Amino acid sequence: MQFDEGKQLRADWPKGMICEHFEVTKEYYLGGDTGDKICTKCGKTFFNDKELDEARLEATKRKNTL
Ligand SMILES: [Zn+2]
Repeated sequence: MQFDEGKQLRADWPKGMICEHFEVTKEYYLGGDTGDKICTKCGKTFFNDKELDEARLEATKRKNTL
């Protein structure tokens, strides 16, 4: 996914809505791979798998406490 698409997703994502980041893809900027992963639903970027795992865990926890 292009960097700009992710930016748009982030802008459109409702504030406070929980995303479990189930589908992530590579992020590209100006034709190059940024090395980051990006959530196809909310547009959040992750520097590595550890960060993604933690964000998923956090989202699951928040969902279970609602
Ligand atoms: Zn997400």
